[in-house]
Amino acid sequence: MKILVLNAGSSSQKCCLYDISSDTFPQEAPKPLWFAKVDWSHHQGTAEIEISTAKGAYLQEEISTDSRLEVIVYLLNTLHQGSTQVINQLSEIDIVGHRVVHGGREYRDSVLITEDVKNAIANLSNLAPEHNPANLEGIIAIAQQLGNIPQVAVFDTAFHSYIPHAAAIYPIPYEFVEQGIRRYGFHGISHQYCGNRAAQILNQDLASLRLINCHLGNGCSLAAIKNGRSIDTTMGFTPLDGLMMGNRSGAVDPGIIIYLMEKENYTPEQLNHLLNKESGLKGISGVSGDFRQICDAISQGCDRAQLALDIYIYRLKYYIGAMIASLEGLDVLIFTAGVGENVPDVRKLTCEGFSFLGLQLDNHKNENKPIDIDISSVNSTVRVLVIHTQEDWQIAYECWRQMTKNPRTKN
Ligand code: ADP
Repeated sequence: MKILVLNAGSSSQKCCLYDISSDTFPQEAPKPLWFAKVDWSHHQGTAEIEISTAKGAYLQEEISTDSRLEVIVYLLNTLHQGSTQVINQLSEIDIVGHRVVHGGREYRDSVLITEDVKNAIANLSNLAPEHNPANLEGIIAIAQQLGNIPQVAVFDTAFHSYIPHAAAIYPIPYEFVEQGIRRYGFHGISHQYCGNRAAQILNQDLASLRLINCHLGNGCSLAAIKNGRSIDTTMGFTPLDGLMMGNRSGAVDPGIIIYLMEKENYTPEQLNHLLNKESGLKGISGVSGDFRQICDAISQGCDRAQLALDIYIYRLKYYIGAMIASLEGLDVLIFTAGVGENVPDVRKLTCEGFSFLGLQLDNHKNENKPIDIDISSVNSTVRVLVIHTQEDWQIAYECWRQMTKNPRTKN
């Protein structure tokens, strides 16, 4: 089965093609046959494209366009033509999966895309203005290019959609709750993948484990997973809530926002920019929101970069503590995404805060580029895993699940 996966960001587009030949879904993610990455963030109007294949072909190109449709047409051509060709014709693709950021309260699972689903994704754009429209453009582009191929929407909010009301509802006047102002949570595809992968690595039933997944990338969030489902998460109504992030503040006293509006005449646009782009590691350090640059600045003696790291770790421990309370215990702590996978000191400093629980790291394993392994010591009361998150593979799994339960044929 050939599965094409699209993952659209506000100024990026990633795509990959998997080929699954076995009857059962493989436990471990293979390398995709073909992988493409498009970045519009450096120069407006210029798409920087990189394509690589499992056989080692590599193509780098810049095309002058802002149009996602044009770029997707270009990418699809490289699947069956030129140096990065991996299939003979596009009709070999069986199904296409899309990451869709917001599924609202309605979509609690991935779903085959119909006109109703497209309308719902469009209607939810007010809750994810930077992402849902981009996701929809990808869906429309594929329908234009591949006709009536089955397409699946895999929602980042779905994994969190069973969070109990007590954890999901903000204590504001109830009329706003009825309008849909509540905790939705994000990074759900990554949290779900990591939970499943943790159970595989430990060779235990996921339903028997209480897990906390720390997704620490540019955006950061925790999920508390019990009975295989998210029961609490740190991101909320928007991806601004919770942990301190690269450029985002995470949770702050809402009174600060009122103060800035009243005393400093901040507009909604300025507040949006301040909290989403100028805060977090960047805001405190004055250096960057990129963790590598924070580490470099600390090694050169920059006090504000050190303060940024101290707040980052403090808040991470603080929210892990909250998630332990939600779970009423902890069996597995997982670190994933750019920072979680690559920075041993973040794992060490965080885990030190929970030694009172009997959580102990194996320092040697922690320092030696662990991927998909248990880095806790034999005597630790909590298993600590580093997992390389694979959102695209989780989306491919959702496509495979849709195909096998509902084998709609292509035209
Ligand atoms: P996104 O949320 O955009 O998917 P990533 O998961 O790629 O982000 O994580 C990006 C973050 O991870 C950046 O802050 C980057 O500096 C950090 N990072 C990635 N690799 C390393 C590394 N080897 N050492 C330190 N930080 C790293």
